[in-house]
Amino acid sequence: MEGLLVVKPVSPCCLARLETTPRSATCSHCGRAFPKKEGFLDLRLPTRRRLLHLVNNLPLVARIYPFWRRHSTRLLTGGGLTHRAELAHLEAAFSGLSGPFLDVGTGSGAYLGPLVGLGPTFGVDASLAFLKAARRHHPEATLLLARAEALPFPKESFLGVAFGPTLNELEDPRRALLETARVLKPEGRLFFALALGRGRRFGLWLPTEEEVVSTFQEAGFLILWSRKQKRFLLGVAEKPPK
Ligand SMILES: [Zn+2]
Repeated sequence: MEGLLVVKPVSPCCLARLETTPRSATCSHCGRAFPKKEGFLDLRLPTRRRLLHLVNNLPLVARIYPFWRRHSTRLLTGGGLTHRAELAHLEAAFSGLSGPFLDVGTGSGAYLGPLVGLGPTFGVDASLAFLKAARRHHPEATLLLARAEALPFPKESFLGVAFGPTLNELEDPRRALLETARVLKPEGRLFFALALGRGRRFGLWLPTEEEVVSTFQEAGFLILWSRKQKRFLLGVAEKPPK
């Protein structure tokens, strides 16, 4: 199975090769062990446990989330954009690309549908409950437990990365965007969608549109286009050619 993967996951600690057994994987550089949990390789590095992580790991939340995700786009845009239209933008952003693709913070797998239709697709999330929901809907995607701030992939692995409103939930969105830029190939595309606001609230990162632009630029991205609808921003950015 490993040999068939177009992208081989690496250790999130050292970005070194993983020595895998059916039950776990070990970093070939520092020896750190990563267990498998319910069929998913757990490549999460420890973090300060935040309430949001705990909430996202509740099975009930994972069950309700797809419903919220389907309706949140319309609610945040004041009816200006539906979830279906959001997915159409994602598909358009990656049309003509054959992958591999990565969905960061895949949640219950909302973005996996359009991606698996285009090419080989990976999804990462820090919540086991969410990954189980994503696997039910999209068993064809390769799913890993991992944090957006420490992506377990070699540099320049993907032609397209999708990053939905998980970006709002991260402790360190800047770090996550740097990681995204690292794993993208030059001229690779990033599709993003997130809620806007005026700073941190309830542990969420709710940036202004200007803050989004500057944060993406600092991570090395060039925003190709974006569309703002009330409190929701989606767009496509590119990692510049070498
Ligand atoms: Zn290591």
